[in-house]
Amino acid sequence: MVITLKPGTTEKGIQHVLDKIKELGFTPHVSKGAERTIIGVIGENAIRSREIFQAMFIVESVMPISRPYKLVSREFKSEDTVVKVGNVEIGGNKEIAVMAGPCAVESRTQLLKVAQEVKEAGARILRGGAFKPRTSPYSFQGLGEEGLKYLAEASEVTHLPVVTEARNVRQVELVARYAHIVQVGARNMQNFDLLKEVGRGKKPVLLKRGMSSTVKEFLMSAEYILSSGNYDVILCERGIRTFEDGTRFTLDLSAVSLIKQLSHLPVIVDPSHATGNRDLIGPMSRAAIAAGSDGLMIEVHSRPEEALSDGFQSIRPDDFRKLMKEVRSVARALGRKG
Ligand code: PEP
Ligand code: MN
Repeated sequence: MVITLKPGTTEKGIQHVLDKIKELGFTPHVSKGAERTIIGVIGENAIRSREIFQAMFIVESVMPISRPYKLVSREFKSEDTVVKVGNVEIGGNKEIAVMAGPCAVESRTQLLKVAQEVKEAGARILRGGAFKPRTSPYSFQGLGEEGLKYLAEASEVTHLPVVTEARNVRQVELVARYAHIVQVGARNMQNFDLLKEVGRGKKPVLLKRGMSSTVKEFLMSAEYILSSGNYDVILCERGIRTFEDGTRFTLDLSAVSLIKQLSHLPVIVDPSHATGNRDLIGPMSRAAIAAGSDGLMIEVHSRPEEALSDGFQSIRPDDFRKLMKEVRSVARALGRKG
């Protein structure tokens, strides 16, 4: 349930409510809005204690949360969450946040070059995989920690924060040491131990939608992260499996608008993995921003034909520059800073 406190409730008042929640054996989750403080009380049968809180004079209302996901729902928090990564803000109708870079970190030279190129074109965050989730065990698996070091160096040079994937629980601490955002890949969306581990961490998390997951399952996975203590979660729609085989996956743009209604969390779109086709990255990026996406994740490679992974869907820095201009004008046309 959600307990909304009256405007102007003092810290002492808030503490009183928190103590009562803990005394009853529940975990409180506090969200301080511009005017009101709201407290989520999660736990089976929490709603049975409703009357205890309704009787408190500092309490404005006590409402059950009807959805299976609680902390990620708009019922818990009506205002958009803005995730801050360095000086980049993601969500809440802020400037669109574009994450760009190669599918995989292949070498120091490759990464430093493309990092500079995407920065100059207007990317706000650098992407690049060091631990790659590959379908085949014979495909390039990523440079591991060496790749993380290059990402950290590229971040220092360009001042772009870095997002990269942790493929399992053991890698989380290592990845968090070098990266600013820890990515949980589509294939791991329901790796509940990994979700709890990144949830216990301090770094913002980019959670990608599983390719065979419903929006509800996607939000339940985000709930794992928030309920473990980490509220800085960015959701990423990256295409789902359908009968269509003309594209790598099917980009589900309606999910973006739907999630915006159901959740306060920022949502971005990855048209690169969704389409698997570089000719579709531009149109799908424009459509994503028009649908209300808070940003994009785009694979960019200086020489896509030589890429060690996902070359077909990688665009050249020049095309990325053009794409940035286009998505910015779409954002501005919709009253959003481009
Ligand atoms: C990626 O972004 O590097 C990636 C592998 O994407 P996904 O998990 O969406 O397939
Ligand atoms: Mn890729």
